[in-house]
Amino acid sequence: MYLSSTDFIGISLDSFDQELNTEKRTELERDVFAPKLFRKNAEIVISKLEKYLADSSIRGLALTNPYELLQAAKDLMTEEHECIASLDEEKLGEIIDLYIKTGIQVHSPGYMGRQFSGVIPLAGVIDFISSIVNQPSSFYEAGQLPNVVERIMADELNRFIGWEPERFAMVTTSGATLGNLTALLAARNDKFPQIWSEGISGVEGQYRPAIAISEDAHYSVCRAVGILGIGEKQIVRLPINREKQICIEKVRPTLLAAEERGLKVFCLVASAGTTSVGAFDQIEELAEIAKEKNLWLHIDGAHGASLLVCDQLRYKLKGIEKADSFVWDAHKMMFLPAVCTLLFYKNKEKSYGAFRQNASYVFEKEPDLYTEFDSAQQNFECTKRPLIMNLWVLWALYGKALFADKIEYLCQLTEQAYRILKDEPDFQTLHQPEANILCFRYLPSNLYEREFPDFQVAIRNRLREAGKFFISKVDIDGIGALRVVFMNHQIDTDHFRMLLSEIRKTGQELLTKQKI
Ligand SMILES: *Cc1c(COP(=O)(O)O)cnc(C)c1O
Repeated sequence: MYLSSTDFIGISLDSFDQELNTEKRTELERDVFAPKLFRKNAEIVISKLEKYLADSSIRGLALTNPYELLQAAKDLMTEEHECIASLDEEKLGEIIDLYIKTGIQVHSPGYMGRQFSGVIPLAGVIDFISSIVNQPSSFYEAGQLPNVVERIMADELNRFIGWEPERFAMVTTSGATLGNLTALLAARNDKFPQIWSEGISGVEGQYRPAIAISEDAHYSVCRAVGILGIGEKQIVRLPINREKQICIEKVRPTLLAAEERGLKVFCLVASAGTTSVGAFDQIEELAEIAKEKNLWLHIDGAHGASLLVCDQLRYKLKGIEKADSFVWDAHKMMFLPAVCTLLFYKNKEKSYGAFRQNASYVFEKEPDLYTEFDSAQQNFECTKRPLIMNLWVLWALYGKALFADKIEYLCQLTEQAYRILKDEPDFQTLHQPEANILCFRYLPSNLYEREFPDFQVAIRNRLREAGKFFISKVDIDGIGALRVVFMNHQIDTDHFRMLLSEIRKTGQELLTKQKI
């Protein structure tokens, strides 16, 4: 039997009328939305987090079998009730414990593995405000302070770039992956304006649009090329040198060869801090080539752009003001909770070129005082977290030194760790560190690499399982290596030496086991 639409409406309205009783409303107010309960819940959370932050023991990750964790999580769920279950505080506590315990322990000196950081606790507290007041920030009317503050932070950070005020733009995005995509979209639309409406087949002539990137570019750049419809086959790989930087001498010949293959390179992507080793491409030289060939120069500074705030390290990004765009992850070396990415454009006009859409329900035909502060025309997200708030509050209260001092400490520590490795004959260094990333191999004299080709990866995995140190792995020149990323200022050289002895112990155990 089919219900006509009027029947359907009739039925639902009837049942709605019956269910609209004040008893349910009271119940909601009493148990879920009550401000007093909010305080009580928050206090439980805060006291647990305080303990977590106070624990300075060396611990990496307690890797759990996902099926066991699945069951443990299910066991914490209240059985389905007809009405709203009353709050079980004990369960709430257990859920928080499980959440904390199963994470990588980012605040411990045992965490040396990834680029997300132990956070500045106040940033977490501000993030908590964002979750309660819920001010999505793509539109000024929904997120007034976040949109104003974005302008303040843009100007504050431009002190280290040096662009003309009012001429540049800064947009926040949910991660550098999205930031890279957005910048490359702006680049594509700038150089091939017809693609937005006509699609890639609308490009006239025999040339195929192409993008030149470093051999060591982050995978998000290749992913963006796929999404943009450029096609991965149209990626021109720029060879890298021993320092893992784009080899400047080879850029022009590589671009020329691409042209001869019928490619029209319109954009060059370089890195300020590669993910693998933290190498900085030579922006100044690349900018010269980009200018000569009329290319959009984008810098993926997800990891390394934070060095801009340090007087002693800023030189690594020399020439950044010549880039057309660059991304900067504040959730990496600015020690904020994930995510907060800043995307800068030299030319403000071009920041509006990434997305060209009209939606009458949100976009005004005639901008006014308020809509002028909307960011939705420049960012992909519609509902978006007020990403800038954590950064701004810390910056406003403590100033740039909070970030600069920690970054400088971490880069110095990495340099010292490198020197320690150099003095250890059973360890091989692979690069001079440029930032806070260091890759190396453990190569004891009783190792025959051919017999144990994935020795480094095996060490890393075993260390992870042991749960004390969390480090990562990376392929360097096609061969596995160990990788540490120092994100925690509580780490000192003693911790690093401790890590090395764990690596030795683990490595020797693996070799003994292999022989049996
Ligand atoms: C981390 C990283 C990315 C990806 O950024 P997300 O914020 O994780 O999306 C891109 N490029 C580089 C160089 C990175 O280090």
